[in-house]
Amino acid sequence: MKVVVFNKREDEEKLLELWEEKNPEIEVESYAEALSLDNIDLAKGADTVSLSSVAKLDDRLYGALKDLGINVISQRSAGFDMYNLDKMNELDMKLINVPSYSPNAIGEFVVASALYFSRNLNLIHENVKKHDFRWQLPILSREIRTMTVGIVGTGRIGRACAKLFKGLGANIIGYDVYESEEAKELLDYVSLDDLYAQSDIITFHVPATDDNYHMINEDSISKMKDGVILINAARGTILDTKAVLKALDDGKIKGAALDVYEHEFDIVNKDKQGKDLNDDMLDEIIKRNDIVYTPHIAFYTETALDNLISLAIDESINYLKTGSSPSIVNK
Ligand code: NAD
Repeated sequence: MKVVVFNKREDEEKLLELWEEKNPEIEVESYAEALSLDNIDLAKGADTVSLSSVAKLDDRLYGALKDLGINVISQRSAGFDMYNLDKMNELDMKLINVPSYSPNAIGEFVVASALYFSRNLNLIHENVKKHDFRWQLPILSREIRTMTVGIVGTGRIGRACAKLFKGLGANIIGYDVYESEEAKELLDYVSLDDLYAQSDIITFHVPATDDNYHMINEDSISKMKDGVILINAARGTILDTKAVLKALDDGKIKGAALDVYEHEFDIVNKDKQGKDLNDDMLDEIIKRNDIVYTPHIAFYTETALDNLISLAIDESINYLKTGSSPSIVNK
């Protein structure tokens, strides 16, 4: 069997080599370039292709792959909105994704962000830069075990966060539109308003649906404790950035960790050094020391990348061998 890998990034190279060593019976060819009508010949002889597309695929590519006898594509991400599933169904082609690659990776990042603000590292660094080395009230910290952590969205990532915060001894409460038995072993479910009222740290792990658009807004922030630490490592659109900036100015929010941003499309995973970002709000977010902004990077660990590669390719081969896979998107 043969798989041709497109969009191979430098950070995937070593991990792909390891996958090849573990699967010597599968022939692997890999290219950094994206699959296109111009280079479709590179896929000749393959049983399946693995892509990591960020842009919408040209509709004509599906037929071109089909002509080469390729009916299965694996996408090395959870998101698959760049694929035309209707077209794939029409041609009886299957798309495989990786719905979950390492919730723990995001969990660790969330805990690091919480500790960054709970231990006042932003203020301490600023003081040290000014050669102010005093122990003093503004940097006197609380330990996580004396705090209540509120988790909104107790799915895979929310639960991974709960496990880690539990290890630090926090009191953990959660809210989800669908409560899970697994989560109940880690946290106590409360209403969303109670979660806002009781939490010292609130972390959001809900999807970007129409219902969740700007669920963190002036009104919801007003229900939170004064001095709350807010973390969004879910999706940018769930948070009204302007409302958060105002609440930081008012001292309502102590610190905000934003791994996602509502207008992030033009910057994530791009080198903009020396270039104007043409986004005043983003400039402010980056400048402020009560915000730690990171470019949608919470997932970015060796383990997660390894899982993205191996779960995508393994499942496409599983499908080819058995005619089924739990990771098929268009069942
Ligand atoms: P999941 O589907 O396992 O869990 C999401 C949970 O949110 C579900 O239990 C759902 O019932 C709940 N939910 C939906 N709307 C809600 C609402 N209004 N209030 C309360 N609960 C609600 O998803 P997941 O894998 O845990 O992912 C969570 C989020 O993290 C997604 O938005 C995903 O895109 C994002 N994510 C971010 C990164 C990153 O690097 N920052 C990486 C992967 C995923």
